[in-house]
Parts: sequence; structure tokens; C-alpha cells
Amino acid sequence: MPRQFFVGGNWKMNGDKASIDGIVNFLNAGAPYKDVEVVVSPPSPYLAYAKDKLKPDVLVAAQNCYKVRTERGEVGEYSLCVEVSKGAFTGEQSPAMLKDLGLKWVIIGHSERRHVFGESDELTADKTLHAIQEGLGVIFCIGEKLEEREAGKTKEVNFRQLAALVAKNPDWSKIVVAYEPVWAIGTGKTASPEQAQEVHEWVREFLNEKVSKEVGGATRIIYGGSVTPDNCVELGKKGDIDGFLVGGASLKPDFVKIINARN
Ligand code: PEP
Repeated sequence: MPRQFFVGGNWKMNGDKASIDGIVNFLNAGAPYKDVEVVVSPPSPYLAYAKDKLKPDVLVAAQNCYKVRTERGEVGEYSLCVEVSKGAFTGEQSPAMLKDLGLKWVIIGHSERRHVFGESDELTADKTLHAIQEGLGVIFCIGEKLEEREAGKTKEVNFRQLAALVAKNPDWSKIVVAYEPVWAIGTGKTASPEQAQEVHEWVREFLNEKVSKEVGGATRIIYGGSVTPDNCVELGKKGDIDGFLVGGASLKPDFVKIINARN
């Protein structure tokens, strides 16, 4: 089965009601979108605001959520292990809350979560597993830093980040892998189509080998890192690039051109 093209817009910590109205207007005006799944990710305080205004062609994702906490609780006469998606985690949001808002997706493991907030491979994998178990789809981000690429460690770093998730045995039909080289995010230095394709191919081979050929063939692997309307068409022609995760350019009307990169 062909993999459906997937384009995500990560708004990061940007926007207010007025600017979100503007983004919603151009996204709604561009709909309906053909042969592409479109998902935008506003900051938490605006998730419901944006979702209420967007046409159903455009889904909404959260930028993060917390992992499970397992508690022993008394249920009737039995002592059971009860997984709870709420509790004393100030500043966090649970996948159950995102589901309650009607969201279908969450971004986990973005390089800013990993490197600004110090989230480990293990936590990232745990959060992904929990979000999936709660019924969300996950845009699972991986990517190497510049010094890691220069030291010849691109494959090793991306495989290590993926291996942490493979170890949790998640439902891969709920996962989109976003390869986002850290050196390309927000820098204007896009990976060339060949550089991106090379890593996407490695990721697919890794999934073929460590999970199954079925999962390797079916999983969408999208590219993120300074994608623009000018470079998206060439990137989108590569066989293992199944879409994009877009930061800065997703805030501008030309984002619609990126959504339609394959059309
Ligand atoms: C991102 O934040 O995921 C991203 C890819 O940002 P940008 O497109 O601005 O490089």
C-alpha cells in the first residue's frame, strides 16, 4: 500500500489569537487537501482554539505530553495495577487530556525537547508508548547534532534514538518518524535531498531489520529542517521521504505550497 504523504506544521512557542486566526484562514482557504494528511501543532494554550476554527482537513497535534504513572489502587475486592493519566505533574498534560479535546496526534522527541529540556531517549520512548496506548498517533522525532554528523555518528545517533522505541514494542501503525537533523532546524541549512534520502533509507532498513519488513515498508518517514516552498518539491521526490515536519515556514501562507509539494 502506498504511504500517504504527511505534512506537519510545528508552531513551537509562537502565536496569539490574532496570528492564529491568520494561519487558520490560509489553511482553510487551501482546503480540501488531496492525498496528503495535514497536521498542525499549536502551543498548548491554543490547541482547542485552533482546532475549533480549522476545517476537518487539518488535524491538530500537541507538541508534547507526559508518560504514564503506574499506581497500585484498590478496585473492588482486588488490588490492581491501575495506569492513571492524571496526577501531580505540574506543567504537564496527559494524552488522555489531548484525546478529550478531540486531538489525534502528538509530537514527541522534538530536538528542542531532547536538547533544550534534556529529555532522554528512554523518557521519549516511554512517552511515545503511553501516548499510543492512550489512542494518539505520534510524530516521533529523531536526528543528529552537527558535531555528531561531523564525527561520522549520524547513523549511530539516529539508530540509538529509534532503538529506545523499538525496545518498547509500540504499535508502529500509530507512528510517523520525523528525521530532523538538529543542524538543519531553524538554521536555513536544509539537508540536501540526497543527505535526507540517505538517512531515511537507513531508518527504513533499521525498521525492516529490527521490527519487520511490513513495518519498514508501511511507516511514514518525514523530513524536517528548514523546509521551504523552494526546496520541498525536490525533497518530496525522494522515494523514502514521505512528507515534512515544518517549523518556521508553517506560520506563513506559503505553507500551503509545502502541503501540496507532491501535487
Ligand atoms: C521543527 O521545528 O520541527 C523544524 C523543522 O523547524 P524549521 O522548519 O523552522 O527548521
